[in-house]
Amino acid sequence: MPRVYRRIQGPSSAFGGRRLSMRRGPAPRNGSKARLVVAFIMAAFALVSYFGSREYNPVTGETQYISLTPHQEIAMGLQAAPRMIQQHGGLHPDARLQELVDRVGHDLVNRSAARDTDWQFDFHLLADPQTVNAFALPGGQVFITAALYDRFSTEGQLAGVLGHEIGHVIGRHSAARIAKQGLTQGLTGAVLVASDSYGTERAAQMVGQMVNMKYGREDELQSDQLGVLFMSQAGYDPRAMIEVMEILAAAGGEDRPPEFLSTHPNPENRIQRIQEAMDAVFPDGIPAGLTP
Ligand SMILES: [Zn+2]
Repeated sequence: MPRVYRRIQGPSSAFGGRRLSMRRGPAPRNGSKARLVVAFIMAAFALVSYFGSREYNPVTGETQYISLTPHQEIAMGLQAAPRMIQQHGGLHPDARLQELVDRVGHDLVNRSAARDTDWQFDFHLLADPQTVNAFALPGGQVFITAALYDRFSTEGQLAGVLGHEIGHVIGRHSAARIAKQGLTQGLTGAVLVASDSYGTERAAQMVGQMVNMKYGREDELQSDQLGVLFMSQAGYDPRAMIEVMEILAAAGGEDRPPEFLSTHPNPENRIQRIQEAMDAVFPDGIPAGLTP
């Protein structure tokens, strides 16, 4: 478990600025000065809260900004899991398939770098025959729908999808996004307070959304990369991850785009990065004898 370093300090000294608004002077100027002081406090608080929650992720080797503790993440995931199961028609009734998903998921965790973490992993096969999707809740609750599972022809393809979802959990992507949203909201709010012009307000919102979308895309590519690493370490042929992209691309070609494609980058665009991840794991080529 990564140690949690939190040094959140309220910008209390900045409150001294409140006196500024009490100063005598031309009224309109006073009002805009007060607004700027409030905006400054809001922006400073958002920035200090965000950058004060710096943490090192030992699996990805990255420094990230997280406002939740691992315990809180696990609790959030456990709390939300029953609702996710219910929304997808319950768990799949076939206990053998459920066991297979569970075994492949835990093999991926226990035979790879993922085992050096304290996340509480659970793998669920959902009955939903319509929605082609897989997702992970913070802390380790991982789900795959029957609609996606039914498209697999090998265990390695299942391992590819589960490895990708394990990557989201270990990358702490949800928690990082929650922290980022807090920062974005704080800064957007500050801009709104500083200027009552509608144009600035819209610009601030758009910048905020663009930043968040870009991070989401990088999270997906990092999950692909981690998925390739975990499945390779667990003895699966990582080329199955490319087959997963082909399965997803084919699923997207039908009438209704699958859920997975609305939250994930285009599968074709992910293949090259997956190839690079495979080359990094196996620089001398993929060895024989891996599970397809
Ligand atoms: Zn994903």
